[in-house]
Amino acid sequence: MIKRTLEEVAKMAGAEDIAEFAKAIEIKGVTIDSRKIEKGNLFVPFKGEKTDGHQYVEDAIKRGAAASFWQKDVPNPPKHLPLIYVEDTLKGIQTLAKSYRDELSIKVVGITGSNGKTSTKDITTNLLSLKYKVQKTEGNYNNHLGLPLTVLNLEEDTDIAVLEMGMSGRGEIDFLTRLAEPDVVVITNIGESHLLDLGSREGIAEAKLEIINGLQNGGRIIYFGDEPLLSERITKIKKDTEVKTFGKSLSNDLYPVSIVQKENGSSFTINGLTKQFELPVLGDHNILNALAAMLVAEYFQIPFEEMDQGFKNLTLTNMRMELLEGENGVHIINDAYNASPTSMLAAINVLENLPGFKKKIIVFGDMLELGPEEERYHHEVGTSLSEEIDYVFTYGKLGLFIAEGAKKILPENRVFPFTDKEELIAALNKKIDQETVVLVKASRGMRLEEVVRALQ
Ligand code: ATP
Ligand code: MG
Repeated sequence: MIKRTLEEVAKMAGAEDIAEFAKAIEIKGVTIDSRKIEKGNLFVPFKGEKTDGHQYVEDAIKRGAAASFWQKDVPNPPKHLPLIYVEDTLKGIQTLAKSYRDELSIKVVGITGSNGKTSTKDITTNLLSLKYKVQKTEGNYNNHLGLPLTVLNLEEDTDIAVLEMGMSGRGEIDFLTRLAEPDVVVITNIGESHLLDLGSREGIAEAKLEIINGLQNGGRIIYFGDEPLLSERITKIKKDTEVKTFGKSLSNDLYPVSIVQKENGSSFTINGLTKQFELPVLGDHNILNALAAMLVAEYFQIPFEEMDQGFKNLTLTNMRMELLEGENGVHIINDAYNASPTSMLAAINVLENLPGFKKKIIVFGDMLELGPEEERYHHEVGTSLSEEIDYVFTYGKLGLFIAEGAKKILPENRVFPFTDKEELIAALNKKIDQETVVLVKASRGMRLEEVVRALQ
């Protein structure tokens, strides 16, 4: 994490000169949560709409913070404390992170895409760790605040940083990539998330492609080659960069040759190599994420032959295809972290191909923020089901459209729409036994992890 004197921090953050007594004080790391202060941290308060973080500055310093930012328009600064005055604390932390990034000689991998960013980041980190000291974005710290915090957390002796870049509109990835200046960028895919803000899948593709704006010369672009919206646009990019694609189609630089689904993961081979790779996470979509990660590792001179070592001990961040076992032996696939049409179809595919269970149940909740065509998207998820799935439960108002679509594929007595979670859980409990697997998936806001907990 960043270690600098306040005099240096002030310069790096574009702040004005600081009090003489504070100049030599050293900070170690940055935090925005006064309850999580570690000794020596720089505290950064935000002037929110409801509460103003500046009221916690004194407390933060009492708890061990070495210093704090102070936004100039906030009255009555406690002048006896070591403060760095900035126009805007968010801009201050971003500028500080940018300066710190420029001082580091770390290699950076930037990962964006509609689905699979966090999973690809986790797999990439595992592979690169075979040979390097690697740090990655914690959890989902992938936006205009999370990314600067992640950068400020990097150690100077780290070799490679694997950074997730998320967005909800145009210009956001552009900002993040110019801050991080990656050597390698990955676009996992283009889905329908954020259609509400970007209007069309084309719009989403353009927004994700902004990640190239910060790519260093001589770097590598890795993208999902089965997505024409990406291929069409990337071929037009004239830059001193190497381009590599992954996907299922044989025209990609890297594609899986034989895939075998197992109860707790899959095994596959890749083009040009007979070696079998064992991936201990579920779903074809995770094979795609693994291929993207492999192209990153290859850029950093790790041979494909050695990469299976990096798949061992792989665990994805919580609630992404997380395989759990309930009290009565029921198996649960917790994918309640988020949902979009693309990832709903990926989930159906996982369950359809999963061996070893007599009964397969899906619990789907609403996908939020899909815009004016949300009803159609939900209906399409329903019609994408197959006879392989024994029962479908839906939760939420939009879930009713999934159920409507599902009834076109499955008999009505296998489709159960609910708008009350307790009722759903009660009905679900009647259908499960130890030979059942239940996949649970919805947008985060639907809180379907409550269903997972009830099953456990
Ligand atoms: P967020 O935008 O919330 O940060 P993310 O892009 O980081 O999401 P993950 O957290 O890796 O995505 O995965 C979220 C869910 O998306 C997974 O649980 C899975 O259902 C689905 N998913 C992951 N990878 C893919 C993929 N390559 N294609 C389609 N769906 C995927
Ligand atoms: Mg994520």
